[in-house]
Amino acid sequence: NNTKEDEHEIELQDLYISIKTTEKFHKTRLELLLQTWIVMARDQTFIFTDTDDEEYTKKTNHHMINTNCSKGHSRSALCCKMSVEFDTFIAANKRWWCHVDDDTYVNVPALLRLLRQYDSHEDWYLGKPSLTHPIEARNMATNQKEAFWFATGGAGFCLSRSLALKMVSHAGGGKFKSVCNNIRLPDDCTIGYIIYTQLQKKLTVVSSFHSHLEGLWRVRDLEDQLTFSYSSFANQKQNLVSVSGFDENRDPTRFWSIHCHLFPYLKDCARYSST
Ligand code: UDP
Ligand code: MN
Repeated sequence: NNTKEDEHEIELQDLYISIKTTEKFHKTRLELLLQTWIVMARDQTFIFTDTDDEEYTKKTNHHMINTNCSKGHSRSALCCKMSVEFDTFIAANKRWWCHVDDDTYVNVPALLRLLRQYDSHEDWYLGKPSLTHPIEARNMATNQKEAFWFATGGAGFCLSRSLALKMVSHAGGGKFKSVCNNIRLPDDCTIGYIIYTQLQKKLTVVSSFHSHLEGLWRVRDLEDQLTFSYSSFANQKQNLVSVSGFDENRDPTRFWSIHCHLFPYLKDCARYSST
């Protein structure tokens, strides 16, 4: 029946995408995202960082939010940012929240196609686990240990507004941080914890989200994939999407090549098309 399908015909403006970053990654990571996929979703994208940065506040058209969370990779710093991302979504009038890290490429048209398959008035938690087993945590309410699956933050995940609203009494107004500290788990696990142990809802696995915790070189059919990542620097083992395009000196993350593979007609991709 058509009416039901039409309800899911969301548009770009129904979407809120939050990106977690930190001061030292504004130039080295965020800049690349701003030049590539964020172009496809400028008004939808909000950057959560830990400093005031005039240059990038301008470049993001004032879509940069200083969370005042501490810098660093600590659990509490990352949970603090996720807490602000969550509260900002609740305050915004959007039907879907998708979170990504600043080393993630988002295929915006594919993301819209995914979300159109679900009703944002129902409870949906869409993402991809990177562990091969569920994790365990003690339910604060019942003191029972429970096993649950969570979506890796580094692959990106999406929550419907309906589900997010149910999380408010557990996680809203900064409470997310105390839940993190109580269960002593990272921010993405804590999202899964609240959804499973407090709301009895489950993760819907969508395998086309991709973090650098999986072998990215195996990813095919780029137009059907929702997210991509990379790890190619310093001490990490090189893990990149295998895509032709710009050479690896000019495009070490492969994000420009992915971008121009998906959108070859863009002005920035002219040189790519002619190679
Ligand atoms: N991050 C942060 N503060 C830091 C380090 C990292 O907010 O001091 C953010 C970073 O911007 C990214 C996420 O945390 O969005 C994950 O960081 P990274 O990719 O460096 O590490 P991973 O956890 O993926 O190994
Ligand atoms: Mn990462």
